[in-house]
Amino acid sequence: MNAFPPVLPTYNRMPLSFVKGEGAWLTEASGARYLDLTSGIAVNALGHAHPDLVQVLHEQAQALWHVSNLYTIPAQEQLAQALVDNTFADTVFFTNSGTEAAELAIKMVRKYWYEAGEERPTILTFEGAFHGRSTGAIAAAGSDKMTKGFGPLMPGFKVLPWGDHDALTAALDGSVAAVMLEPVQGEGGIRPLPDACLKGLRDACDKTGALLVLDEVQCGMGRTGRLFAHEWAGVAPDIMMVAKGIGGGFPLGAVLATARAASGMTAGTHGSTYGGNPLACAVGAKVVEIVTAPGFLEDVRRKSANFRQSLEGVVAAHPDVFEMVRGQGLLLGLKCRAPAADLVRAAQDQQLLTVPAADNVVRLLPPLTITAEELAEATARLGRAAQTLA
Ligand SMILES: *Cc1c(COP(=O)(O)O)cnc(C)c1O
Repeated sequence: MNAFPPVLPTYNRMPLSFVKGEGAWLTEASGARYLDLTSGIAVNALGHAHPDLVQVLHEQAQALWHVSNLYTIPAQEQLAQALVDNTFADTVFFTNSGTEAAELAIKMVRKYWYEAGEERPTILTFEGAFHGRSTGAIAAAGSDKMTKGFGPLMPGFKVLPWGDHDALTAALDGSVAAVMLEPVQGEGGIRPLPDACLKGLRDACDKTGALLVLDEVQCGMGRTGRLFAHEWAGVAPDIMMVAKGIGGGFPLGAVLATARAASGMTAGTHGSTYGGNPLACAVGAKVVEIVTAPGFLEDVRRKSANFRQSLEGVVAAHPDVFEMVRGQGLLLGLKCRAPAADLVRAAQDQQLLTVPAADNVVRLLPPLTITAEELAEATARLGRAAQTLA
């Protein structure tokens, strides 16, 4: 008897399985083609099987897959330099995932204050946050859904309501080591923090010395139409987590930091067997090269503005199904009146793939390389899906 499935049953999977991907399209074994507005949850930033990524992966695979971080890894140095050149950061550590990046961000904050000789036990976080599934990341986000049954939880986090200025002001005192948040909450339902609030938060952190830690795992790497979402507000964090899109589908994450914030992280204080290995960094360097090439992000902004406008039309035409469109760039959420899960299923029947999120939202996360024609097709399919729910 073997009633327990061979794959640990922690996922609610859709009854779909794909054998091939090309650009914004996924194909089932039957040959059925789906337009993919999930991008592996903001991972396949350049679509499926981007020829330049396939080529660089192939070349690196033939040259060298893996060496330990005992040695200098040229692709890692190159990718770190590209990230430093294009961001606020002075230094980068590579991980394999977003949650590992969150772990290091937390360690970096704690070590900073340890070296400064100050007691700062608390990191402020926000309701609706998602920082991954490690014990530290679930403690940071604090939701019952993620933490129930996994206690005792790591101490040192205080979770505040999202968008409550007074609660933040009251909590941000001299015991706060850092404030950690997503500039646009992803899993939480595409909830952007207004630019003015992020600016205000930067000022408030500067007043008490607290470090500002931004989780751009989902909203970074061009997704909002800027390389990183915080650029829209014109302020910079002290520490930032990146993952998902940076590997284009190859597991890769990173923590970016200023020299000051990273100053406690000396030799021996952190490490990773796979983090920043040659295959991952060769691919990551190509992704960053493509996303930062002249014109790429302008194109994302242009396409997404048109897409958003046509989505507003779909929402207006189906007021029983939709409440509003929110988000930025190609990180969009349809806040639904009908159950979001029903819309995801109806879209799937139209061979259009979308991602559910909290707050009854359906996420639309097309590859950044999707064409205007494909976005128009997605809009048409979404309209047909909404029609079936009316
Ligand atoms: C997905 C996600 C993570 C976790 O990344 P993993 O690679 O799944 O560990 C962390 N933060 C945000 C904002 C995410 O969207």
